[in-house]
Amino acid sequence: MAAMLIDGKKIAAETRAEIAEAVAAQKAAGVTPGLAVIIVGENPASQVYVRNKHKACGEVGMYSEVIEMPGDTTQETLLAKIAELNDDDKIDGILVQLPLPKHIDEEKVINAIRPDKDVDAFHPVNTGKIMIGNPDFLPCTPAGVMVMLKKTGIDITGKNCVVVGRSNIVGKPMAMLLLGANGTVTVCHSKTKDLASVTREADILVVAIGRADFITGDMVKEGAVVIDVGMNRREDGKLTGDVDFASAFERASYITPVPGGVGPMTITMLLQNTLTASKLHHNL
Ligand code: NDP
Repeated sequence: MAAMLIDGKKIAAETRAEIAEAVAAQKAAGVTPGLAVIIVGENPASQVYVRNKHKACGEVGMYSEVIEMPGDTTQETLLAKIAELNDDDKIDGILVQLPLPKHIDEEKVINAIRPDKDVDAFHPVNTGKIMIGNPDFLPCTPAGVMVMLKKTGIDITGKNCVVVGRSNIVGKPMAMLLLGANGTVTVCHSKTKDLASVTREADILVVAIGRADFITGDMVKEGAVVIDVGMNRREDGKLTGDVDFASAFERASYITPVPGGVGPMTITMLLQNTLTASKLHHNL
């Protein structure tokens, strides 16, 4: 059996069109959602991500500003900037692009963002709200996966869901969201014994480990839905996922490609969270 592709680009475009409509309606009522993105230093990958976020905001009609700070910015200066944005009424969402230079404590920085402006949903208040099933914002990548599953018509209730990877930004919140959608969830990581025997039980398999082409077709249950979050750069410069696409494609019922799968959804969910924040701030 060959899989059907879950087209992340198409789903992202549809979702962004819905967001643009909602932004237009809000603007007509005099409220423009605004995002501030802070970048510290000159990491080329981060610069691309930040540029894309800024551009995406413009495309859906949101206000956005990029604050570029030099690599030797002190933690104090960065925290002062966040405090200023916390009090800025034009700004509904604040995002600090990670990773930060080594001399800055990422946790302190995340904790300094007002939880109701924390559109990455990394603040402990927001991660706690996800845990108790009452979130304002969802972390962008797992939220994007949930939208893809929903728009593809995949029912999660009662399904065996296996998440490979347990990072705070992808694996753990992904597991919580699948649990919240009534999946029976197993989380695997680098200490999991006989990973293949666990992944082969998955009706829905989400992989976020950061190892190129690691999950092969023989680790996939016949008919499974395979979501590949991985983004790895091959030696030839091409982007590849954590799943060996060709062999998994033969076993899965649905599969996300890389690129063009989960990637385009992540920024879309950032826009969604900024819209949500703006609604919260204006009681809309
Ligand atoms: P992290 O490095 O923070 O976490 C990786 C996780 O994978 C860890 O929990 C680790 O286990 C686990 N892991 C590593 N090796 C193995 C193994 N051999 N078997 C089982 N588990 C393993 O990565 P992220 O969660 O930040 O990112 C994961 C991938 O997703 C990366 O490729 C990243 O580029 C991509 N990504 C893509 C996004 C998108 O928009 N599409 C957004 C964010 C990330 P342990 O905890 O035991 O160390």
